Order: sequence, then C-alpha cells, then structure tokens
Amino acid sequence: MRYLPVFLDLRTGPILLIGAGELVRAKLRLLLSAGARIRWYAIDGDHELGGVTREQAARIERGAGDPLAADLSGVIAVLCAGAGDLGPAMAARARAVGLPVNVMDDLVHSSFIFPAIVDRGDVVVAIGTGGSSPVLARRIREQIEALLPARIGDLANFIGRFRKTFNTRIAQFPLRRRFWERVVDGPIGALVLAGREAEAEYELTGIVDPSRYAGAQAAGAEGRVTLVGAGPGDPDLLTIKALRALQDADVVFYDELVTPEILDRIRRDASLVPVGRRVGKPGIGQDAINTLLIEAAQAGQRAVRLKGGDPFVFGRGGEEVQALRDAGVAYSVIPGISAGLGAAAQFEVPLTYRHEALRITFLTAHKAKDADTVDWSTLTDVKMTVVVYMGMTAAPSVLAGLLKAGRSPQTPVGVFARATRPDAKAAVGTLSELPVLVEQVDGGPAILIIGDVVAHSAPWRETQLQQLLMQVAAE
Ligand code: SAH
Repeated sequence: MRYLPVFLDLRTGPILLIGAGELVRAKLRLLLSAGARIRWYAIDGDHELGGVTREQAARIERGAGDPLAADLSGVIAVLCAGAGDLGPAMAARARAVGLPVNVMDDLVHSSFIFPAIVDRGDVVVAIGTGGSSPVLARRIREQIEALLPARIGDLANFIGRFRKTFNTRIAQFPLRRRFWERVVDGPIGALVLAGREAEAEYELTGIVDPSRYAGAQAAGAEGRVTLVGAGPGDPDLLTIKALRALQDADVVFYDELVTPEILDRIRRDASLVPVGRRVGKPGIGQDAINTLLIEAAQAGQRAVRLKGGDPFVFGRGGEEVQALRDAGVAYSVIPGISAGLGAAAQFEVPLTYRHEALRITFLTAHKAKDADTVDWSTLTDVKMTVVVYMGMTAAPSVLAGLLKAGRSPQTPVGVFARATRPDAKAAVGTLSELPVLVEQVDGGPAILIIGDVVAHSAPWRETQLQQLLMQVAAE
C-alpha cells in the first residue's frame, strides 16, 4: 500500500482548483456536493457551471490572473488540470508549502489521488488501485455498491445520533462494542434499513433502563469458539462466513499454514496467537491449544480457531470440538476449502471424471510410519483418485504402497506445492517418478494427487507440449 486512504474534512478550508472542461466540472460537482469551498481558476476562461445549485455556486470564489500566483492562504488541497507545464509548476508550488496536490492524469506530480467512491451519506467507501487502474477500481465499486444495503448511510447516521448517550452509559469498551453490534445486527438495525427509523428509535430509546442493559452485560460474558477453515492460502477463497467470523473475533489462534494475506483479513484490534508448529520448533501441543480455546471462551471472548484448509480434514478439528463439548463451551464450525480441492482447481485436475475416476480417497502419510499403517489393498481400484496430505517425506512409501496395491508405475501423478498461493508450483509425471517429483517443487506444503485424472491437468498438458516441441526440434 503506497496511498493511504484518509478522509478529508472539507469544512476546514477551501480547495484550490485550476482548469476547465468537463473533467474539471465533474470534480467541481463532486467537491461541492461534499460541502467544499472552492477557489477556482478556470484558466481558459470557461466558467460555465452545469448542474450546480445556487447554494453550491455561492461556495465558489473565482480566481483571476496567473494561477501560479494564486493565494494559498487557508487552502487545504490543490487540484490542477492545466495542460503543459502548469501542472508540474503548480505541484512544485503546493509541495513547497506542504499542501497535498493532485495533478489530473499525472501520477508523477500528484501527492494524493482520488479513489473511486461509494457514497451512501455517512458511509463512504474509497477504492484505490494505486493509480494503476481506475477501470478496475470502478468495477470493484460496482461490486461494493451491489453488496451494501441501500440505507446503510441512514444506519450510520442513526447510530451517530445516539452514540454519545449510550457510550456514556456503557463505560466498558468491549461491552459498548457488543452493544452497538447488537443494534447493527439485530432488529433495530433491520428497522432502520427498512426505512422505519421512528420505530427503530422507539426501540433503542427503550433500552435506557439500567436493568435492561445489565442483561446485555450478562450476555457479554457469552464467549464462544468458532473453528474456521482458512482454505489453502488465497484469501479470496475464504467463505463469506469465515470472513465474518474473522471480522468479529476478539482473539484468533492460528496454524502455521495460515498465510499472512489471510491474517490481514482479521479485525485490526483482535489478538493474534500463533499455535502451530514453527520451522524447527514443535508447537505448543494439542492439549495446550484446547486449554487456550476453552479459557478464552470462558473469559467471554469470541475466539476463532483458524486452521489451514478445512478444520475437519486432517486438521484435528474433531479433537478440539470434543474438548469444547466436554468443557461446555459454545462453539461452531465453518468449513474451508481443503488443500486438495484448492490444488485440483488451480492445476485443473478433475478429481472425478465420467468413466475414468469414480471415487476419491483423501489420505495422510505424514511419516513413513503412517504410510506403513495404510491398508494399500483398499487403493487398488484404478478408477479411484488418491489425494495425499503431508506426503512429501513419505513419498517413497506411498510409491511402494501403491505398487503393492497393483497400481501401474505409469499412473499419472502430480505434486502440487503451495497451491493457490502466489508461489504455487507443480511437478507432474508418473507414479514411478514420485520421489523425484517431490524434490522438484522447492518445498511444501504440497498435495500429491495420483490417478489417471492427473493427465487432464494443465501442468500435464504443458509438459506434453514441451516434449512434443523438443521432439520436433530434434528431428
Ligand atoms: N486441514 C488442512 C490440511 C492440514 S494437513 C486442509 O484441509 O487442507 C497439512 C497438509 O495439507 C500439508 O502437509 C499439505 O499436504 C497440505 N496443504 C496445506 N496447504 C496446502 C497448500 N496451499 N498447497 C498444497 N498442500 C497444502
């Protein structure tokens, strides 16, 4: 992030605007509708004002003469659309006195840029792409427009009106936050969003009786644990429910598999506690994790247990749920995209395929010891795709086991490392090559997929194409 979105209070001083034409008029309208006062140098003399009310026009002060000599006293920002040298010269002048400046369509000379804006009254969303793609910013804006309830601004305004009254009554910050969350998420918020503000106000002001918010205090002690599947790494693969849980958490206990990009989506003031194995270090152990979860919930916190992939796929989620049940702690489970599915999607391995693959087995072979306990005879079916978790070091045992099960050494296999992350890497080949392929992906975590379907994958097709090209070149 290079450009920090901040919200400028336009009542603190005028904006110096230089230039004319449709683009400038659009900015003029935006600034005026946001309450700005404007000192305007329409350099080509075109003072034509379209779509501006009288009240707004009264907030425009016309400048005459050389804009480079404009009076900067009290000005809070400079916006310039001049052609040629004017923009850079104006930018230099503004910077010399420490004023933020935007030269339209000129990133180099601008110290601030305009985001795409979703404007719903008090609720304003700013979207930036660092100046690189306004088109993309507008697309994102459309998506956010679609997501936000139409009256969200009214809700912000409504809360704003009562904020002081209630905040002085509810001294403790966490309780206060929870109180407002209940207003926003509960029936009162729904009434405002439905345009029934008078009723909402009636309900809200009804809660002035201390005995009623004593109830809210007791409810504040309702801690709970949410087991959340974080998916394989790409933060866009979080479910909407997972995202909500992360935005709602007081404390998050996370695994070593959870990527920094996902941790970034957690509410800013939540505490983050790593509980996974670190490289070379063992991690705190399952019993200790269970105890941490239980204690957090009993202390009234909303704890999230964030796990790579899905909590119930080789994630020890079952043990945690058992411990929470035993302790009588409230909990829920939000599924995630398991690494095997993430890898299959990214590298285009259809795990099932009509007539070719009718079954899938997910198995773990963490250590040669685990691989030894696998009953390989259940994996003889050639129409079964085998997805192996934690199988890198045990690759030779997986190979031996599948050969023992009667699988052909020519069976297509893929090793898919760091799936859905920016540094994802694949190596494909045949079963007999498995131990070599594992060496080719520069480290884990990696999923092994074994079965004919791997021949449909994108890396497989690439490899074949390369081989073909090499043959042609040789001939
Ligand atoms: N609960 C997790 C699995 C945890 S076991 C899930 O559902 O995905 C850890 C194993 O998951 C790793 O050894 C590796 O085999 C696999 N894994 C996790 N993230 C991965 C990723 N981004 N790419 C490839 N494999 C991954």
